[in-house]
Amino acid sequence: GEFIGLKELDARSLLIQKTQSPKKPPPSQSLVFGANFSDHMLSVPWNSATGWSAPTIHPYSPLQLDPSAVIFHYAPSLFEGMKAYKDVNGKVRLFRPDMNMKRMNTSADRLALPTFEGEQLITLIKKLVSLDKAWIPSEPGHSLYIRPTLIGTQAALGVGATTDALLFVISSPVGPYYKTGFKPVALDADPSRVRAWPGGVGQFKLGGNYAPGIKPQMEAAKKGYQQNLWLFGDQHLLTEVGTMNLFVVLKNADGSIELVTPPLNGMILPGVTRDSILGIARDHVSGESRLDDLPANLVVSEREISMGEVIKASEEGRLVEMFGAGTAAVVSPVDRVGYQGSDIHIPVGSDGAGEIAKAMLKRISDIQLGRVEHPWSVVV
Ligand code: PMP
Repeated sequence: GEFIGLKELDARSLLIQKTQSPKKPPPSQSLVFGANFSDHMLSVPWNSATGWSAPTIHPYSPLQLDPSAVIFHYAPSLFEGMKAYKDVNGKVRLFRPDMNMKRMNTSADRLALPTFEGEQLITLIKKLVSLDKAWIPSEPGHSLYIRPTLIGTQAALGVGATTDALLFVISSPVGPYYKTGFKPVALDADPSRVRAWPGGVGQFKLGGNYAPGIKPQMEAAKKGYQQNLWLFGDQHLLTEVGTMNLFVVLKNADGSIELVTPPLNGMILPGVTRDSILGIARDHVSGESRLDDLPANLVVSEREISMGEVIKASEEGRLVEMFGAGTAAVVSPVDRVGYQGSDIHIPVGSDGAGEIAKAMLKRISDIQLGRVEHPWSVVV
């Protein structure tokens, strides 16, 4: 027969089936992260013989999968986390969705799940978000959290190439991370727990990377710390904090202020927020876009940083700030790190956040909400 190529993901073939029973979005004051879901979802099945099926937007509903489906056994599962914001003029905006698509495709490739044209999924997500616009809370700091997910679904216990997959997108209205000002977190830096390693999969957003982090977090909580500071190797290199990227601010001998984040060495998830903070800092340093609330003598470093260096800086009074960075909170200030039986204290100022963390939160929120025009903000 005639060879017909595998079908690409194609937003033009979208079918929309609207709900007959729209729900009332919950009151914005009582939102709990990831607890409520909008009326609709997007589904796109994939099969190795035919490629991507026509995408559908349909009422939010449970999936029906065979108990032998590979997802339940071998975890071919990856996801993304991004947000839609309602701006001051009621326009809906996404923040750097191309970055999420790029990361989703690298995750898919690593798991031998199907890849796709990122622009097509962005178009589909825009359709979904427009249809569920009533679910985007407009109060300051609120947003619609969007969860694109890709799983292997074939009913087969053999460990092998994916023959069937399902891409779906659900969304959930979320409130502000900081309801009553910043809440700095304390971190448990226990080198016996390792999140990622060279040649591993820490740089991909795989479902399987997250369940193993839950018990260490519970153990940290028992000891009075909110999150884990994930270390790696004999030098106890700092990698990430909880499910966020890590930034450390040091005052160097020459008086410069150094913003340090670990390099993308395969063990670090390439965060959209991380990349944005680096971009903002570098534009400030180069003079491309100077910000008054960042230090004039800022230096930006993607480099390894060890617990030894952090302790030394702390002892010398040169440890200025530490914060996590991610979509959920943008920045999350750290005020204490427990390591080998003692606590390192980090200044957070009177309002619970350091100057650089605050400047980054302001700049990124301004862009997300369209208060300043920037190519990172994409109007739906
Ligand atoms: N690291 C990990 C392990 C994460 O799960 C996340 C959240 N996606 C991040 C970092 C931050 O990434 P982003 O800024 O893209 O949300």
